[in-house]
Amino acid sequence: MADRIAEEKIDRIRQNVDIVEIISDYVQLKKQGRNYFGLCPFHGESTPSFSVSPDKQIFHCFGCGAGGNVFSFLMELEGISFQEAAIKLAAKVNIDLEINLSSVHGEKKVSEEFQAMLDAHELLQKFYHHLLVNTKEGQHALEYLLERGFTRESIDKFQIGYSLNSWDFVYKFLSKRDFSSEWMEKAGLIIRRERDGTYFDRFRDRIMFPIHDRNGKTIAFSGRTLGHDEPKYLNSPETAIFNKSKILYNYHLAKPSIKKLQHAVLFEGFADCIAADRSGVENGIATMGTSLTDEHITLLRQSVQSVTICYDSDKAGIEAAFRAGNHLNNAGFQIKVAMMADGLDPDDYIKKNGPEKFRNEVIGASLTWMAFKFLYFRRGKNLQIEGDRLAYIEVIIKEISKLDKAVERDHYLRQLAAEFSLSLDALKQQQKQIFFAEKRRTTGKNEPLHKPLVIAKQVKALKPKHYTAERRLIAHMLKNRDVAYKVQDLLAGQTFNIDEHQAIITYLLGFYEEHQEPDSSAFLTYIEDGNLRRMVADIEMMSINDEVSDQELTDYIKQVLNYPKLLKIKEKEVELKEAERQGEITRAAKIGNEINQLRKSL
Ligand SMILES: [Zn+2]
Repeated sequence: MADRIAEEKIDRIRQNVDIVEIISDYVQLKKQGRNYFGLCPFHGESTPSFSVSPDKQIFHCFGCGAGGNVFSFLMELEGISFQEAAIKLAAKVNIDLEINLSSVHGEKKVSEEFQAMLDAHELLQKFYHHLLVNTKEGQHALEYLLERGFTRESIDKFQIGYSLNSWDFVYKFLSKRDFSSEWMEKAGLIIRRERDGTYFDRFRDRIMFPIHDRNGKTIAFSGRTLGHDEPKYLNSPETAIFNKSKILYNYHLAKPSIKKLQHAVLFEGFADCIAADRSGVENGIATMGTSLTDEHITLLRQSVQSVTICYDSDKAGIEAAFRAGNHLNNAGFQIKVAMMADGLDPDDYIKKNGPEKFRNEVIGASLTWMAFKFLYFRRGKNLQIEGDRLAYIEVIIKEISKLDKAVERDHYLRQLAAEFSLSLDALKQQQKQIFFAEKRRTTGKNEPLHKPLVIAKQVKALKPKHYTAERRLIAHMLKNRDVAYKVQDLLAGQTFNIDEHQAIITYLLGFYEEHQEPDSSAFLTYIEDGNLRRMVADIEMMSINDEVSDQELTDYIKQVLNYPKLLKIKEKEVELKEAERQGEITRAAKIGNEINQLRKSL
């Protein structure tokens, strides 16, 4: 590539960036000893197994094996290339890369197309907003919004706009500014007519709500009809820049408030999110007409661990809240659920009851996840009927069994006992039975029932001696250049038994040819293979002594060199048995001799 970033610039970025600071933007880190710990952004977990070493400038997750330096962190988390990660980091520390940015996304055309899509959205967003607030054409739309409780402040904050009642205004507007029609169609802004290949505007005579990505760039629109046209909300299609399953509406504006309050409120749609914001709930975010995805959860986890779900309080909304709650709960979030009377949605509730009641009696009075489940499982049951009542009690006891803390289990069992005038002891007895029955069902796994993901991976099988020895040798070689050469001498042309380990030391010796001092983070940049990088990060995090004696090194090398001999012995033993079976006495004696020689050499 013509505009590759110079090696020397990469080094400067690495020396100036602090990995703890960068990762802190995505993960809440707590210092423990020399390292920092937090919840891994690459897999769902509720106990921190993700660690960052400021000394080595690397990260590693004991749960899923993710690991690397600050470049690989950004590459893996944001799905970007090395060059893009370098550009982001360079901007943070004000290093001028002196390269042509447009050639960075690989093929130049792709990046130009991408940029054109973003530029067109940005331009249109400003224009739509201008039409709404400043022009006669937009006046009826503005009045419509104000009548529905929108304020001017909120219209400005969310950059709400209006699209003209025209078939080709946007098409002409963009063409005049040299935007390619083909690209604008791909961006979802205009639509191509099958019959003659001409284009028309997707959004006509609608109130336009821009949708932003996490960095605040406009990437799509949702257009609300002013009359009775269907659909009520018309959204941009999925495009190269807009992926619904990754986008949380208002994330970029809500993030500071979410971080400050350590809490987010999740809505089902952006209209609720805007209404809540007007009521003073500024930490609201919303999904864009999809259920909550793993990608949403990854994004959320970067700033918060505690979420209030505030969906419609009708049947569908409650079902959706139950699903979202389970998803979040499995990912280790603390959850509350806000409920509104009469099956209302947040927007309608606020219109009817005002902002204060919404803040205090809905958000402020949200139910704990367990209390919500008490209500959830009660629906459709008549608790006056014994059959329904018993079924309900059993389901609730099962749910209580899933709680981690004994105090919580006790609290809810008491509540259940009080409500149905049951004996607390009998309930406790039953809860224990259910708990152990569930445990037996999932035999072999010690983890709590609702967290099957993480711990299974942490129970690592005991590794054979040569494996551990090779890892320890690599750990010392990573720490000390002289040790690396010493190990190379001791191996005397032999190789490590694990291919990946051999690959790592080959890289490492190459690295030491060019670098006088060990540098964990620089070495990780040097390795091109992601899998090897993760292994190196894992080995770097092993705790080993600073110094290593020659005796220790020799012992480890012995383990490494013995392994192929042990394999050979096993092979020979099979041959020996076969020779004996066939009565070939001379051959058997010869093989027996070879085995003895091998044993002696161990
Ligand atoms: Zn992980």
